[in-house]
Amino acid sequence: MGAGIIHPVTGRGNGETSIVWFRRDLRLHDLPALAEAAGSGNVLPCFIFDERLLGGARFVSPTRVRFMLGCLSDLRQSLQDRGSELVLRRGSPESLMVDLASACNATHVHWTRDVSPWSLWRDRRVETSLADAGIGHTAHPGAYVVDDPGSILSAKGTPYTVYSPFYKTWLEVERRELEDPPDAITTPGGIDPGELPSLEELGFEGKAAGTAFEAGETAAREAARSYLNVGLSGYAESRNSPSGGSSRLSPYIRWGCLSPLELEIKLGLRDGEGPRVFRRELAWREFYASVLGNFPEVAALEFQERYRGTLEWHSDEKLLDAWKQGRTGYPLVDAGMRELLRDGWMHNRVRMVVASFLTKDLHLDWREGEKWFMERLVDGDMASNNGGWQWVTSVGTDPAPYFQRMFNPMTQQERFDPKGEYVRRWVPELQHFSDEHLVRPWLADDEEQERCRCVIGSDYPAPIVDHAEERRLAIERYRAAAGPPAGLT
Ligand SMILES: Cc1cc2nc3c(=O)[nH]c(=O)nc-3n(C[C@H](O)[C@H](O)[C@H](O)COP(=O)(O)OP(=O)(O)OC[C@H]3O[C@@H](n4cnc5c(N)ncnc54)[C@H](O)[C@@H]3O)c2cc1C
Repeated sequence: MGAGIIHPVTGRGNGETSIVWFRRDLRLHDLPALAEAAGSGNVLPCFIFDERLLGGARFVSPTRVRFMLGCLSDLRQSLQDRGSELVLRRGSPESLMVDLASACNATHVHWTRDVSPWSLWRDRRVETSLADAGIGHTAHPGAYVVDDPGSILSAKGTPYTVYSPFYKTWLEVERRELEDPPDAITTPGGIDPGELPSLEELGFEGKAAGTAFEAGETAAREAARSYLNVGLSGYAESRNSPSGGSSRLSPYIRWGCLSPLELEIKLGLRDGEGPRVFRRELAWREFYASVLGNFPEVAALEFQERYRGTLEWHSDEKLLDAWKQGRTGYPLVDAGMRELLRDGWMHNRVRMVVASFLTKDLHLDWREGEKWFMERLVDGDMASNNGGWQWVTSVGTDPAPYFQRMFNPMTQQERFDPKGEYVRRWVPELQHFSDEHLVRPWLADDEEQERCRCVIGSDYPAPIVDHAEERRLAIERYRAAAGPPAGLT
């Protein structure tokens, strides 16, 4: 649906003004909220810096805020190119939305539906204040391929708790039509657009990690175009390689710079295994959105009730810090954690390895890892991150028994980084070791360590725990909490 069309549902013609409240949907292409507003008359696009998210939120991340500021700058430029503006405000949307509506005589507010418990709570409050002021609102689809992943139900009418059957049904769900970006947007004058604040002004001076990702829809579309044309055909074979192969589109999908539906449609135009597997990965994101939406308690608790309060977690600040800083003595774990520290991102395979190491080698609570990821990841997304952590920790929706999901950091390195490209990049002190010793540098003799100019225990840590021993202890811990798993004895 393009600009200037009278929308059949609302029937509001040109002349009315509505607000588009951008949140984590920072794009103009295929955005139903914007398409409907622009098709109905004048539009005031706005974004609100909510102090509750920036100040005291559980998962605030300076790195993500920096990326978001870049996305907002790009969005503002794109809106200006279409004769419009992005109005920026700081405070609570409950009151600011009503103020803005009365300043431009807006009768309706449009936004894109989110799934996190906090955003739903906030939206209910905004809805109430808008209703009290006689202003309408519509929460649109656009964050996922399907309109509402949480409404995909099994034949019994219950939400899916296992991915594969969810995926089968998800494939069959009818998709909406793609929305064109408006060519021009008419925006009421006389409203102060507000300055885009700097990271420092938001209180995050010196706290953000750098990131290899250029922010915004413009960069996102270029990255997607290039990946779909070049990388996608080899995705099925190379997606598990940490030094390349996956799309690296997650920050753009997280911030809504790309429409997941548009991506899926573009995949459908291409043949081969790569597009099919990529689509399956997109569906994992939708599955976890459904899990969080239907079982909001997972934000704090294990999905599997038998593990709530029964799994024993150790508490050890030194071990936790060694993990966070990438100083565990296990090269693949350290490479991943250093990539996260420096770039605010990590490859999926390595996310699984480091998460398993935290919870099953160091026996530290998965919530510590979940929090650290959310603090650092530029793509940090509550649903996917929580789902990923619970999956690796074997306390979530996945039915595989815990003893089948214990990642061995050494064999994972041999399999997925056999030439050591990834480890040498992120752990440069190990770069001179042979491929064989790069996996277990502590086994290199003194002469070799001297030759490689890296003495284990001083230039690079010796392993902080023994993987085989910790694996045994982890099985004991899980068995004590869950009872003996069938097939283990
Ligand atoms: C412990 C843990 C924490 C995670 N935290 C996050 C997070 O905070 N945010 C996030 O977007 N992803 C998270 N993931 C999922 C996954 O690691 C990333 O989506 C992926 O690494 C992004 O890289 P990519 O864009 O190159 O992925 P690709 O392989 O190119 O996949 C394409 C897209 O599909 C989606 N996707 C792929 N795999 C998954 C998955 N397992 N779960 C959910 N979505 C997926 C992503 O949007 C991704 O960009 C986590 C996984 C684990 C194991």
